[in-house]
Amino acid sequence: MTNARPIQGRSALPTILLGGKAYFIDLEARLFRETMDPGRYVDFDSARGSELREQAGIVACLGCGTSVIVPVSLRGTQLRCVRCGMFLEQRDPSRRR
Ligand SMILES: [Zn+2]
Repeated sequence: MTNARPIQGRSALPTILLGGKAYFIDLEARLFRETMDPGRYVDFDSARGSELREQAGIVACLGCGTSVIVPVSLRGTQLRCVRCGMFLEQRDPSRRR
């Protein structure tokens, strides 16, 4: 199931089930949006957002701040940012800041 057609100017957002709720992962806005009500969301930088990012495997680039989803199978490997080429942060995101 690959549907990369843009929806209102942006790519379709990946969805994840976390804590019994389904969320769109909005990497651009850095938000988890509830699929049932996208106006309701959890900010990546909130305490709950940190938990969700950890569960979802979302890490931030040390160089440009771009957020990416790292599959479990690739965790701990040296991945580079698609935007700036720097290494991606792979520490526990909840211990950041
Ligand atoms: Zn980067």
